[in-house]
Amino acid sequence: MAISSVYVICDNMEALAELCAGAKSVADKVTAVIFGDEAAAKSVCGADAVRYCPVGEGASPEDWTGAIADEIKKEASAAVFVNNSIRGRCIAGKLAARLDTAVMTNAADLCEEDGKLVCSRTVYGGTAHRKQAFSGAYGVFTFGGGAFEPAADAAAASDVAVMPGAPASSYKRVALHEKKEVGVNLAVAKRIVDVGRGLAKEEDLEMCRQLASVLGAEVGCSRPVAENNKWLPKTSYMGITGVQVKPDLILVLGVSGQVQHIGGINKSKVIVAVNKDKAAPIFKNADFGLVGDIYKVVPALIEKLS
Ligand SMILES: Cc1cc2nc3c(=O)[nH]c(=O)nc-3n(C[C@H](O)[C@H](O)[C@H](O)COP(=O)(O)OP(=O)(O)OC[C@H]3O[C@@H](n4cnc5c(N)ncnc54)[C@H](O)[C@@H]3O)c2cc1C
Repeated sequence: MAISSVYVICDNMEALAELCAGAKSVADKVTAVIFGDEAAAKSVCGADAVRYCPVGEGASPEDWTGAIADEIKKEASAAVFVNNSIRGRCIAGKLAARLDTAVMTNAADLCEEDGKLVCSRTVYGGTAHRKQAFSGAYGVFTFGGGAFEPAADAAAASDVAVMPGAPASSYKRVALHEKKEVGVNLAVAKRIVDVGRGLAKEEDLEMCRQLASVLGAEVGCSRPVAENNKWLPKTSYMGITGVQVKPDLILVLGVSGQVQHIGGINKSKVIVAVNKDKAAPIFKNADFGLVGDIYKVVPALIEKLS
């Protein structure tokens, strides 16, 4: 393979298997970097080597960026795959600065062309895809959930060691306040109830939560429900600027289906849409569509499925 080395850096152990599988499909050697202890490192499957970065009380995974960059620079060339979380993007940016390269966020359709890693990225607000490759020796990519299939037969690495070097931080934590909102990990959810602006009032989220509960699903939403209405945390919205998901089933309720939202849900195995407007674009992307009022459909579904 033309790509000799890929570093996979992940702050989410559930996303790690996917990234390692993607890295393995294009590189000879895959090194996973995790934030945790030796026991966590030994549980990682699908990488040739694992380096773990212990994160002490009051410290942050980002503090390890300098040490990770020094390790990567020991290779003449390398690609770096980072999961597309808020922390992941922060680490990706810091690493790119230290490696004198750039970050391609939300990369997709990775392949190798003429010895270079080429990926596709959504641009112009989701209306076009641009193919890109790095011109230098190093390149940092971030990938959302579902970018790769985890390998079924991945084995644990035999080469497990602590990351050389030491963490260093330019800031000190003075306080930590717990947020009231409960975060969900939509990137790895198998079933999602996706709520859009078809929902008239915040209280009505309760019926969507009930439906999610009977389905064993997580609740996610379109961007305006999180960003404008603030009914759900920002980590709950899906789309090109939100989380990219790949559940077995997504039930899309009162979402029009704009391209920016579709870009986050179109890798779902089965998309079921409910919208009262039969011309809503969501129906073009749905496997099953029901023209109807969510205020009638959702209670009926809860009753049937309970
Ligand atoms: C650069 C950029 C990036 C963006 N990134 C994202 C992103 O990552 N994610 C994202 O979601 N959006 C994103 N957006 C916003 C996006 O363009 C849309 O505005 C947004 O997705 C619309 O959300 P919605 O479908 O919930 O609302 P609307 O478009 O208002 O649709 C509401 C739908 O509900 C239906 N409806 C109303 N009442 C009912 C009822 N009782 N029963 C059934 N159906 C009903 C309506 O028919 C309508 O189709 C982005 C926009 C820009 C410009």
